[in-house]
Amino acid sequence: MVIFPKSDTTLIAIGFESSADKVGVGIIDSDGKILANQRATYKPELGKGVIPRDAAEHHAEVIPGLLKSAFEEAKITPQEIDLVTFTQGSGMGPCLRVDAVTGRTLAKKLNKPIVGVNHQIAHVEIGRLQGNLDDPIVLYVSGGNSQIIGYSHNRYRVFGETLDIPVGNCLDVFGRSLSLDASKAPMGKVIEDYAKLTDEYVELPYTVKGMDLSFSGILTAAKRKCKKEGYTTEVVANSLQETCFAMLTEVTERALTHLDKDEVLVTGGVASNKRLQEMLNLMAKEHGAKFSGLPAATAIDNGVMIAWTGLLMHLTGHKQSLDDTLVRQHFRPEEVSILWR
Ligand code: AMP
Ligand code: MG
Repeated sequence: MVIFPKSDTTLIAIGFESSADKVGVGIIDSDGKILANQRATYKPELGKGVIPRDAAEHHAEVIPGLLKSAFEEAKITPQEIDLVTFTQGSGMGPCLRVDAVTGRTLAKKLNKPIVGVNHQIAHVEIGRLQGNLDDPIVLYVSGGNSQIIGYSHNRYRVFGETLDIPVGNCLDVFGRSLSLDASKAPMGKVIEDYAKLTDEYVELPYTVKGMDLSFSGILTAAKRKCKKEGYTTEVVANSLQETCFAMLTEVTERALTHLDKDEVLVTGGVASNKRLQEMLNLMAKEHGAKFSGLPAATAIDNGVMIAWTGLLMHLTGHKQSLDDTLVRQHFRPEEVSILWR
């Protein structure tokens, strides 16, 4: 059963999230009802990766408009907000500063409490809420993260993670190296579509080290297969997915069984991949565990998850002063004591 702290009256929280290439403003109430979820994405120049300063500039430009749209979508006035929340970390420094400054400004203007939220914990908590899950092993796979997270002894602990680049980044850089067009869909989706065209597999380095993963060697090998060894994009895309996703599934499986849990949640941008979902689902079934994904609106970085997690913190007594709202690029989920579970 999922237990969340209750307040006597329904509170409303607003959340700002801009830790990477997306910027979001979300509003949710303490009954878990999502009132608004506005988002915009910074698109780097064709063939280039995310440049933090440029992304931050984009976020600062669009966030006032998103804020206005969020209030319109929620059909509330700013005065009806009870709590202001923002992503404090982890993430890219210049990008994080946008959500932090916006949060501070609004909290000060409305004279409301402010809560800085850990990004990874927010992904887990919105997953528990929306997936109606109690205690899942969470595979969080995005452009900036690849982590296997589980709750143990009062903390969300990272049981496995990438030692170098995140899996989403591996897919993105591979696609860019072949000049695949990601102007209409995320690069990971473009690669997924190529992979669907074949079952042919060429071997790539499978790199699981204990509970941790490495994707940089696979990326180098995949690029070489296409550029130097003449394999087609389809074959290498398929092989890249099969290899990376099998590695992720293996470590998730080990965490699931070692921790004796019976729920698996996948979240983050890469979670929308059907092949990854299929592998995880099969693995979960073998262990009699429940498998859940999330709608893209709450799996991808969003302000709602920040607002919801901030509410959980606020309702369990978390207090934060404005002086204590500096962003933290390397903020780890283990650092937060979880009082609402
Ligand atoms: P996020 O960092 O959570 O916003 O997620 C962005 C990452 O998700 C990027 O690396 C995308 O290429 C990746 N992504 C999006 N859709 C898919 C998909 N269908 N399959 C694999 N990766 C995807
Ligand atoms: Mg994220």
